[in-house]
Amino acid sequence: MAYEYEPVNRDPNRCKASISGEGKYGSFHAHQCSRKPWKDGWCKQHHPDTEAARRKQNEERYQQKRALSPLSQLYRANEEIVRLKARIAELESVQPVGEQKEA
Ligand SMILES: [Zn+2]
Repeated sequence: MAYEYEPVNRDPNRCKASISGEGKYGSFHAHQCSRKPWKDGWCKQHHPDTEAARRKQNEERYQQKRALSPLSQLYRANEEIVRLKARIAELESVQPVGEQKEA
């Protein structure tokens, strides 16, 4: 969520986001975003809706990346082993057809 630039010093014809970490004053000096307002006084990049969508996209990318990690694949492989072992035990407990009379 972008911070709002101090209302007292704010230029109403520009996006109201406070920017730091760039420009000639570096990260210690905040300045107002230079873009034109797009909606609700924010530019398209700093609007809360855009930022929420960006966060969601980053989260999805992170989850996708995590799902492909070796540790995650190992976890799923182990789950599969547990499932297959249960299936094997289930099948082994069944009497083979035709062998009941021989016993
Ligand atoms: Zn902006």
